[in-house]
Parts: sequence; structure tokens; C-alpha cells
Amino acid sequence: MLDLALVGGKAVTPIGVLDADIGVEDGRIAIMAVAGALPSARQTLDVSHQLVMPGAIDIHFHCRAPAHPNRGDFATETRAAAAGGVTTVFEMPISKPGCATPEIFRARRALGEANVYVNFGLYGAPGTLQRENVMGMAEEGAIAYKIFMHAAPPFRADEFLGLCLPNEADFYAALRLVKETGRRCTVHAENNNLLEYHIAQLSAQGRMDARAHVDSRPPVVEGLAIAQALTVAEDLRQPVHIAHLSSAAGLSIIRRYQQAGAPVTTETCPHYLLFTEADMDRCGPYAKISPPLRSQADIDALWQGVVDGSITSVTTDHSPFTVEEKERARHDIWSAPSGAPGIEELVPFMMSEALRGRMSIETAVDLISANGARLFDLYPQKGALVAGADADITVYDPRPVVRVDRTKLFTKARDCDCLYDGREMQGQVTTTIVNGKIVFREGQIVGARGDGRFVRPLTRIEAQVEAEATV
Ligand SMILES: [Zn+2]
Repeated sequence: MLDLALVGGKAVTPIGVLDADIGVEDGRIAIMAVAGALPSARQTLDVSHQLVMPGAIDIHFHCRAPAHPNRGDFATETRAAAAGGVTTVFEMPISKPGCATPEIFRARRALGEANVYVNFGLYGAPGTLQRENVMGMAEEGAIAYKIFMHAAPPFRADEFLGLCLPNEADFYAALRLVKETGRRCTVHAENNNLLEYHIAQLSAQGRMDARAHVDSRPPVVEGLAIAQALTVAEDLRQPVHIAHLSSAAGLSIIRRYQQAGAPVTTETCPHYLLFTEADMDRCGPYAKISPPLRSQADIDALWQGVVDGSITSVTTDHSPFTVEEKERARHDIWSAPSGAPGIEELVPFMMSEALRGRMSIETAVDLISANGARLFDLYPQKGALVAGADADITVYDPRPVVRVDRTKLFTKARDCDCLYDGREMQGQVTTTIVNGKIVFREGQIVGARGDGRFVRPLTRIEAQVEAEATV
């Protein structure tokens, strides 16, 4: 007997959107069948008129636990993920202490396993430049590595320990170490010298307004860092993934390297596809994100990259802070931490854009789920609705028009969500299933701490065997 049956829905599968019923058993998709052909189940959900898709995989997420529990922790922020239809998050290594040694990695894994409502992978930071640290985290199951090319933000040095490598030689050395692990390296690409130069100039002019943040990080700050990272990636033949791409200039550089065959991929975020620097006037420090919000021309270029495949993932860069931390910077933008929440908007935003005709439903699902799974060696165990895959499933009702109401969000940083508050989305997540268990249903969290599991990359060979087994 099946544990759970989803009947009547439209399943978004690797071969297209199909009328298919889905049977779940022991945490996996046991069977996909034509309507009415499933064996009996202990629980049946009627998902008629709804889209049934592989759960979203957010490959760029921050809860930062155990640092700053007032901002959010593994429990609060993965509840938000569940409510947003995200079934796996990759937690970045910013924490206190930064996730840069196998010991810290193990402790973070244990903390996550005890508290998460959805699955999670952990990034490691190679910035200690110690071989045993970098290799050790791969053995512990690091999903990938993360390097920041800028220095630690002035008042957050403790959280960024081992993460920031503004020096080119250090960056090179770190990437060479990551290559030994066989894992991918994700890079936050902003050039430190150019950034500090602009901040110094603007500060000397007395600028402290919200738009000064944008002016301090023009596209060339991103572009220069990307060019450096990709030149090193090409030289070392080490795959690099450029995080949260924000500019047309950056995209153009990435395309040039991609056309030359360099091992480079990139992602962008909904906020770079939706908001401009004008939103700094509306939201002030709540819209302070790095890289910054930019122009409509940048938005148009990024959409083109998303649709033509040069950008393969859309991620949240979900970054909870407290209202106090943001308000402190109301009249001095330099003192605000960078980042905004977004884990609950990823799926509704991308599905809205697909339903309104920007791209196909299948492309949207590739961008928020399948491609991330492929890139980080989880596919097709995750990221695909196929028999044998993990039963990480999101059910999306495309019919209602729903206005984002930040007071109803699950993230602890809900009051920092100025950007999306009030925005209309086409459709909503109605059910989120993690490892075969319903964790979110009709507006309520029904899962528990520990329902999520630690996720580590399948090796390439395992991924191949798994792929053959499910054909
Ligand atoms: Zn980030």
C-alpha cells in the first residue's frame, strides 16, 4: 500500500507536463501512473487543477545558525522554505564561526539535522587555505565551496571568518584546493579595491543616502571580479559558479567565457529580475542587497540570460536580518547589513512569470529545481518527478491571484520584507512534501523539526547509475 497518493494533478516531469497521479512510498516516488491507475494509499490528496512539481531547490540560502538567532535559525527559516515550496536549501557558510573547518562543519550539520523542516546541504569555505580543512569538509559532505572576493563587511568580521579572499593569490590558492575536492566553487564576485575606492569617494562627498549603496557598486565592480574569477577558473579548469548575478555587464563577460568553453555557470535572484534602484527610495535599508538593485536595462538583460540558458538557476540569497539592524541605517546606508528575505517568494514569482507567458512551466521548474540538482550532483534523486526519486514535491495552484502580505510570512525577518510586500502573484503553493511527508498544507506548517535531512552530493558515478536506473 502507498503512503500517499496525489491524484488529479498536472505533473511537471522531465518529459513535459502530464496528467499523472503520483504514488509515494518510504519517502520516494514509487509510481507515476495515468489517472485512476494507482494502487490504494493510506492518504490521498486531490490536487485537481493544480501543478505538481519537483520541490524547489534553493542553491543560495542563508540562515547563518548558530549565529544571531534573533535574525532566524535553521527551524524558523526552513519553516519559511516549506511554506514557499522549497524542499532543499543550500546553506551558505556565513555563520559564527564561519563554516571553514571539518569540526565546524560537523557541528553545523548536527544543528541543522535537529532543526530543519526541509532538506539542507552545507557549503564550506576554503578561505583558511589549509588543505586538511578544505579536503576534510568534502569528506563531511560539503555540497560545494563559497568564496567572497570582497573583504568582510566592517562590523561583521566574525561571521565571515575564512570566507573572504580579496587578494588574487589567495583566491587562486583556494580555487586550486577546491579543485582537489572535485566540488564546484561558488563565488560572490565584487572587486574589493574598486568597491572601497567608490565607497571612499562617496563618503568624502558626504553621501549616506540609500542610493549611495548602488553608486558604490556599479556594474564594473561585479564585472571586474567575474573576469578575474573566470580567468583563474579557466586556467585551473575548475568549475566556478557565479553567485547572484546582477548586471548586464557581468552577464556579457560570463557569456564570453562560456563561448570560449570555460567551466562557468551562473544564477540570478528574483529581486534582480524585478526591482530597480528606484526601489531604494521606497524601501531604504530594506532594499540594501549586495550586489545592489540596478537598472531596467540590467533587468532586461538578465531575463534574456534566463530565457536563453546562460543563467541556469534562480535562487533566493534569502538573508534574514532584524528590523533594528536595518532601521539603524535609516539615515546612514553604510551601516546597514546587506540582504533581504526571499525564500517564500521564489516559487510564486517564477511560476507567476511562467503562467503569464514569460517562459514555459518546464523552464521555470528547471531554473528553480532541476538545474540546481544537476549542477550540484543531486539529479535525478532530487529535481525530477520520476519513479525512484526522493518524494520532494511542491503542489502549486495556478488559479488564485495572491497578494504578498509580509505579516503572514513565516520567516523571522518578515518585517524586513519591504520589497515584495503587497506584490501580486499568480497562484500559490498549497502543499509541500519533503521526503514523502507533508510539511506544509493550506497555509499551515504541519511538519516538525528534523523532518528535513542533510543532503550530500552523489558522486558523478552514483548520479550516472541513478540516472540509468530511472530511465
Ligand atoms: Zn548570499
